Amino acid sequence: MPKEKEKAKEEVKEKIEAKDSGSEEEEKIEKEEAQEVVKGEKPEESEWIPRTKLGKMVKEGKIKDIDEIIGKYKILEPEIVDYLLPDLQIDFFAIGQAKGKFGGGKRRLWRQTQKKTAEGNVPTFGVMAVVGDGRGHVGIGYGKAKETLPAREKAIRNAKLNITRIERGCGSFDCSCNEPHSIPYRVEGKCGSCRIVLYPAPQGTGLVIGDEGKKLLRLAGIKDVYSRSFGQTRTTINYVKACLEALKKTTQYIK
Ligand SMILES: [Zn+2]
Repeated sequence: MPKEKEKAKEEVKEKIEAKDSGSEEEEKIEKEEAQEVVKGEKPEESEWIPRTKLGKMVKEGKIKDIDEIIGKYKILEPEIVDYLLPDLQIDFFAIGQAKGKFGGGKRRLWRQTQKKTAEGNVPTFGVMAVVGDGRGHVGIGYGKAKETLPAREKAIRNAKLNITRIERGCGSFDCSCNEPHSIPYRVEGKCGSCRIVLYPAPQGTGLVIGDEGKKLLRLAGIKDVYSRSFGQTRTTINYVKACLEALKKTTQYIK
């Protein structure tokens, strides 16, 4: 509990600092962020011309359920997922941090890295996205580019291509319903030094997990879960990968 309080305090501090710091760079980034959100909301309506056999079958209506594809075929066109799961939601993990004197270290959605060359520094942006329909289909993807917007698009595309099915259920001893609000049993995932254990929880518990894990579980359609984590969990990329690894194990006994 004290940890949570500290976290809340830090958040408040950050907010205050954000208000105080009026550096131009910060404002610029904030403006960019706002613009991108507006851009992201506009749906691009253009006719999809499938280029793979699988895509053609999906467009002709021969495949109506994404479960027929997952695990059997490799999805090469993100439009296949758009077609079969029209209510797909998108979220981004905070994998990077802001630079600068005042608001520096603040968590950002993109990670900025640099290559040193003779001409100067060449920055690259990386973004990590998660897509999910809230009914057991979820995928994460990493994209990088020289600007934040294309990196974001690449991440969404990769997330759609990596979509997998997870099994929901109610395996809690404190709850005897048969609704798919939690996970069927205890699962564990690991990536790098990050290790996460997810436990089933009774209805009304909520997601007892870090903020980045919450984003993943919410889009997967899980409402209640307990968790334990070990290792360098502030490495967000490995943290969410470990979390997804754990979720994937919910299907290990299903054929
Ligand atoms: Zn239950």
